[in-house]
Amino acid sequence: MAFEGLSDRLQDIFKKLRGKGKIGEEDIKTAMREVRLALLEADVNFKVVKDFVERVRQRAIGQEVLQSLTPGQQIIKVVHDEMTALMGGSESKLTLAAKPPSIYMLVGLQGAGKTTTVAKLGRNLLRQGRRPVLVAGDIYRPAAIKQLQVLGEQVGIPVFSMGQSNPVDIARASLEYARSQNRDIVILDTAGRLHINEELMDELKQIKSAINPHEILLVVDAMTGQDAVNVAESFNRDLGLTGVILTKLDGDTRGGAALSVKAVTGCPIKYVGMGEKLDALETFFPDRMASRILG
Ligand code: GDP
Repeated sequence: MAFEGLSDRLQDIFKKLRGKGKIGEEDIKTAMREVRLALLEADVNFKVVKDFVERVRQRAIGQEVLQSLTPGQQIIKVVHDEMTALMGGSESKLTLAAKPPSIYMLVGLQGAGKTTTVAKLGRNLLRQGRRPVLVAGDIYRPAAIKQLQVLGEQVGIPVFSMGQSNPVDIARASLEYARSQNRDIVILDTAGRLHINEELMDELKQIKSAINPHEILLVVDAMTGQDAVNVAESFNRDLGLTGVILTKLDGDTRGGAALSVKAVTGCPIKYVGMGEKLDALETFFPDRMASRILG
C-alpha cells in the first residue's frame, strides 16, 4: 500500500513522544531528526523536507505544543496541519468555463496513465451531470485512439476522433463538435513520449495556443517518485500547468511525489488514480491524505 513505510515510521516516532508525558526541546529535536530521515527515505524532495521540518520545529518549540497538557498529541496535530498545507491546503477544483465548453487538456509521458485518466475523468464529470466528450489526440502511440474509443464506450461518453490527422486540427475541430453536439466539457488526450523532448513540447504548445484550455493537467505516475516531480517541473515551465493528476497511488509508492509536487512546482494535485478500473479516480483532499499518512 502507498505510504506504508512512511506511515509506520511516523507512527513509531510519535508513539515514543506520546509515551513520555512531559516533553522538552531535546525530545522535539530528536523527533524532528527522525521525521526528517523518514521523509527523505520516502523520497520527498530534500528542500521540501528541510523547510517542512523547520516549520514543524518552530511551532513545536512554541507554546502551542510544549505548554500544552498533551504535547504528544499536539505535535501530531502540528505535523498534520503542515502536511496538509504542503499538499495544497484544501481541495483544488477544476475551472469551469463561463461559456461552455470547458476545455481540459491532459498531458504526460507515455505509460503514466493519461488515456485511462481521460476516460476516468469523463466518467466522474458525467456522474456530476456534465456532458463531456473525449478527444483522441494521441495520434502517435499505436492503439491509443482505439483504446480511448473502447474506454469511451465503457463509460458511455462519445469519443471525437479524426484518425492520425494533425493534433492541432483535431483539437480545434473537437471544439466545434462539442458546440454543435451540446457537449459542455472537452477532455483532450494528447501524445506522450518516453522522455520529454522539444518536439513533444512544441506540439503541446501549439495545441494550447490553438484552443486555450481552461485546465492543462499533467498525468504523472506516483511510482516514479522524484522523477514525477522533475517531469512536473519541466512541463510546468514549458506549458504552464493548472494541476497534476497523480496516478497509481494504489501501488506501493513511498509517497515522495504526493508530498513534494505542490511545494516544488506550485501546481496542486487535483485528482489521484487509485486503480486500473474506470471508477478509480478520486478528488484529492490534502487533509485526508495527511490523515492517511499519519494513520
Ligand atoms: P498513457 O500511455 O499515459 O496513455 O497510459 P495508459 O492510460 O495507457 O495507462 C498505462 C497503464 O497504467 C494501463 O495499464 C493503466 O491501466 C494503468 N493505470 C492508469 N492509471 C492507474 C492507476 O491509478 N492505478 C493503477 N494501478 N494503474 C493505472
